[in-house]
Amino acid sequence: MRLAFLGPPGSGKGTQARELSRKRGVAHISTGDLLREEINTGSGLGRRAREFVEAGVLVPDEIVLHILSVGLKKADSSGGFVLDGFPRTVPQARALDDLLSASPLEVVVCFRISEEALLERLAGRRTCSNCGANFHMRFAPPKRVATCDQCGGRLTRRDDDQEAAIQRRLEVYREAAEPLTGYYRGRGVLREVNAAAPPSEVGKSVLRAIGEADLS
Ligand code: AMP
Repeated sequence: MRLAFLGPPGSGKGTQARELSRKRGVAHISTGDLLREEINTGSGLGRRAREFVEAGVLVPDEIVLHILSVGLKKADSSGGFVLDGFPRTVPQARALDDLLSASPLEVVVCFRISEEALLERLAGRRTCSNCGANFHMRFAPPKRVATCDQCGGRLTRRDDDQEAAIQRRLEVYREAAEPLTGYYRGRGVLREVNAAAPPSEVGKSVLRAIGEADLS
């Protein structure tokens, strides 16, 4: 299984990628998570990436491609992978084609949702600073205030989920989205799902889109 999930921030592609990875044993490769890990460890790469991530703009391709190729190598032993947040532009899609060469992406799933719904989702989103689990103050609140249900870690609002950065990230997405979906539509691998539906429904649409049976 070689998949990529495209969609604006807050469209739920990360949640669905994590779920698919848990159920089917495929590697979940989120370039956003990998960049945040790099930033937290304080590596040279992380220090270079930090200002871009915090401003909500794209990190230079050279940095993202490096962490992506490390992620893909680690995923070699799994039964495939799902890319989450990569590619974000047509040049990144071309670079990915080069990296995957003989084994290209089989399906690219695009998560469609209105900007209004996204703004509401992103503003309420809280992330566990320890395990990365996502919560939502309105739609999926934690049992205890600011505490992760899964590991007891502290829930925080990501710096790039602050209002100004959210607007910027949506703008960045808008600019690149159409050419990118056009690129994959032209190859006949693009499938679209309605990401405004409840997560369990979106999960079913994703399975249909990738031609997998619902085993749950
Ligand atoms: P995400 O968690 O996918 O929303 O990503 C958070 C941030 O990481 C983005 O706003 C970008 O600054 C950076 N980032 C993640 N993936 C990429 C990518 N494919 N290309 C450039 N920057 C990225």
